[in-house]
Amino acid sequence: MKVYQNVLEMIGNTPLVRVSHLDTGPCELYLKLELMNPGNSIKDRIALKMIETAEKAGKIKPGDTLVEATAGNTGLGLALVAAQKGYRLIIVMPDKMSMEKEYNVRAMGADVIRTRSDVVKGHPEYYQEVAERIAKEEGAFYINQFSNDANWQAHFETTGPEIWRDLNGQVDAFVCGVGSGGTLTGVGRYLKQQNPKVEMVLADPEGSVLTHYHETGEMTEAGSWVVEGIGEDFIPDICDMSLLDKAYTVSDKEALSVARDILLKEGVMCGSSSGTLIAAALQYCREQTEKKRVVTLACDTGNRYLSKMYNDDWMKQNQYI
Ligand code: PMP
Repeated sequence: MKVYQNVLEMIGNTPLVRVSHLDTGPCELYLKLELMNPGNSIKDRIALKMIETAEKAGKIKPGDTLVEATAGNTGLGLALVAAQKGYRLIIVMPDKMSMEKEYNVRAMGADVIRTRSDVVKGHPEYYQEVAERIAKEEGAFYINQFSNDANWQAHFETTGPEIWRDLNGQVDAFVCGVGSGGTLTGVGRYLKQQNPKVEMVLADPEGSVLTHYHETGEMTEAGSWVVEGIGEDFIPDICDMSLLDKAYTVSDKEALSVARDILLKEGVMCGSSSGTLIAAALQYCREQTEKKRVVTLACDTGNRYLSKMYNDDWMKQNQYI
């Protein structure tokens, strides 16, 4: 085993595992296990890159306060990096996100502010507006993953190249969700630069505006969904929607059921957004008429959802089973 000098060196270089017990049609489907990052989600990559880019630009230095708006995983990644480097961190998180994420962020020394989940961008109580306001009041640095180029660049420099390298360039499609759009933009730009024929496929929760926007170029009013971390009520600045070739809408019920299935059949305990991604990836695979190699992500660990999707009582109360 490799010996690391620091936990931050362990970010990235996550393994791929083939889905071997579910029907993938004529295709091979691989999960990239982002839950094996030290902060247990794909967001460790961008947390490190966004902080180091701001340091290099002279915008922040250890001792400063950082503020971020997040579904939770960016907060956890940032808490990991902030603790290692000596920053104070304030995390602003909508109240629909799991308690486990809040406890985890707090345990790592960051402060957490919860905001309403039932308001959209532009409302003063929307989590991103609250984060921006707190940063101004505290004289702190607002990281803003939704407009920060270091976010997609982290995926362009690491996630994309790792997939290409590990499959020897034999990649036909990549399925991802959009929260900030960092994964789509970074991985999409890298893979299409290697081979313009690689298909980029969006997995979008029912209620999100993105699938409709991809298909029509028009915005609709956002609904609500239970899956955490993906789906949007606006198009983030860094989200390059032109990279998308196809989009699938997935209901909460299907996403949660696929995630539970992946744990039982494949032994991978992932979070709710991964359920959406894998559900869309399975549908894409089953629709193909020839063999394709398809990659999607296990974005974060299911341990963050033990009180929700992995709890049968919660599943019954919410009529998912
Ligand atoms: N899955 C989870 C669990 C997340 O927290 C996020 C980010 N909020 C994503 C997927 C989406 O990734 P991106 O921000 O790169 O679009």
